[in-house]
Amino acid sequence: MPPHTPDTLSRQPLPPSIDLFSDTVTRPGTAMRRAMADAEVGDEQLREDPTVNRLVARVCELLGTEDAVFLPTGTMCNQISLRVHCSPGDEVIMDHSAHVRSYESGGPAALSGVNVATLSGSNGVFSAQQLREAIRPPGNHFPRTRCVVLEQTANLAGGAIWPIDSMRQVCSAAAEAGLARHLDGARLFNAVVETGVHAADYCSGFNSVWIDFSKGLGAPIGAALAGSSEFIQQAWRFKHQFGGAMRQAGIVAAAALYALDHNVERLAEDHRNARRFAAILAESAAAISVEPVHSNMVFFTPEGVSAERFAASARQQGVRFSVMGPSRLRAVTHLDVTTKQVEQAARIVVQLAEAR
Ligand SMILES: *Cc1c(COP(=O)(O)O)cnc(C)c1O
Repeated sequence: MPPHTPDTLSRQPLPPSIDLFSDTVTRPGTAMRRAMADAEVGDEQLREDPTVNRLVARVCELLGTEDAVFLPTGTMCNQISLRVHCSPGDEVIMDHSAHVRSYESGGPAALSGVNVATLSGSNGVFSAQQLREAIRPPGNHFPRTRCVVLEQTANLAGGAIWPIDSMRQVCSAAAEAGLARHLDGARLFNAVVETGVHAADYCSGFNSVWIDFSKGLGAPIGAALAGSSEFIQQAWRFKHQFGGAMRQAGIVAAAALYALDHNVERLAEDHRNARRFAAILAESAAAISVEPVHSNMVFFTPEGVSAERFAASARQQGVRFSVMGPSRLRAVTHLDVTTKQVEQAARIVVQLAEAR
């Protein structure tokens, strides 16, 4: 089922009082803004921005990589990585639910000229065997399988977490076949906080990994792409080519550093709130099916009503969800919603479903 566009909802003018649309809606608070205002800056393109340089060093330490580069968005991290790993006519393997495939405007085809081959994983997690079976044999007829993409956490698969062992098995199967391994870590720290596995351990089998500061970590802008020195050197070329080389980017890197210092451990609170939201729906008599909660997302399907209509009714009550299919909705918890607000939003969902 293709994911639906959230455009109709995001165009509505009233800001919702409880916004569970995504963890991207968080706004920088006073302390983060102060860190931004106080940031030492320089020209990022010349690698002279001291705050960006500090962020890069911090990311390398956290993810266990040789080098990293600061970029405006996670989408650019994904697209630059594919561009480095692949040539036109190559094929990239990923789960059918991958963000790269459905939410990046056809970037892999447009920017790198690559085919996307999809696997049907379970909650976004596929096996080494599934990967091996999808790798093309040699021959002039075939695209050349070049890269595999994993997503931690798997967003459209319910915020599910790749177990470290499955990840390692897939990475070694990929390495054996000579494929590059890319980790979309938009919500890597949600997995880290939930499982206690170190970020560097999740990253160790990959040639390229990235984290997003503008999701649950609560910064306004920014992502960091990491890997070997050689990979990052190649990534810099496409950072320029794709228009992602910046100037005094320390202003936003300061927010990312603040987020790493203050907003990582608290992700556990978002996970508790997501489980609370799901429990209220599941305990009610309302006809709603609720998918298992793995991190900070709850996917739910109210019976017999279109997701668009349901979301519009919720919006009138001051709550915003995202529409993820004809009947599927998503609630995402984050640092700008309290437990009380999450409980209130869940009760509104139950009321709307019961009123039908
Ligand atoms: C949000 C997201 C992206 C893209 O990140 P942006 O910073 O919004 O460009 C990529 N992958 C996943 C899994 C995401 O959730």
